[in-house]
Amino acid sequence: MNTIDNRDSIMNIVLLGSPGVGKGTYADFLSKKYKIPKISSGDLFHKAIRNQTELGKKVQDYVSSGELVPDEIVIKLVKERLGKDDCEDGFFLDGFPRTINQAEALDKFMKIDKVLDFVASESEIISRLSGRRTCKKCGAIFHVRNKPPKIDGVCDYCGGELYQRTDETQETIRNRLRVYHEITKPLIDYYRRKGLLAEIDANYQFPEIGRVISQCDEALSDIGNL
Ligand SMILES: [Zn+2]
Repeated sequence: MNTIDNRDSIMNIVLLGSPGVGKGTYADFLSKKYKIPKISSGDLFHKAIRNQTELGKKVQDYVSSGELVPDEIVIKLVKERLGKDDCEDGFFLDGFPRTINQAEALDKFMKIDKVLDFVASESEIISRLSGRRTCKKCGAIFHVRNKPPKIDGVCDYCGGELYQRTDETQETIRNRLRVYHEITKPLIDYYRRKGLLAEIDANYQFPEIGRVISQCDEALSDIGNL
């Protein structure tokens, strides 16, 4: 039996999930619980750019010209990061791989033990994202359902006007989800064929995060016991 305090196996975990599914929140939670780092490709980009490493400068060139950072560079960054000491017992990898090409590259230098795929219904995701309201003045974020401001359309903190970001309208969200599923479907099939995929029902909101985490615990409990 693999308990958290008595974990005898390495946990190399990939996290998948569409925009608005709450993956980042779950990743932070799992990282604390299992005491292994969360590695996010977005953070790796930012850090490399900030530190102006050789790879960072290349990343910056692509990002500032609005181009996609090529696989070759992303893979190098991830490989470098996963090779560090704090990943010895495992990691939760967020935002990578995004394509089969990247997944195959990852398989060449790292054994992946499990892939957690966070899934929520389209209507749930639309309700989460399209309900967001951002303050024009201070940037505070409210939610019409989950965190409504005291006065409709007005920021609790600074009195600024609340607005809906253009990438958070129903139409754009539907479009973002469609693109996400198109790109990710082959990747999900790839991990399913390998028997690594665990689907996690993420249709629960914040106070019920435990219901999501317990599914993750269940999925992670058989690692090393196969
Ligand atoms: Zn405000």
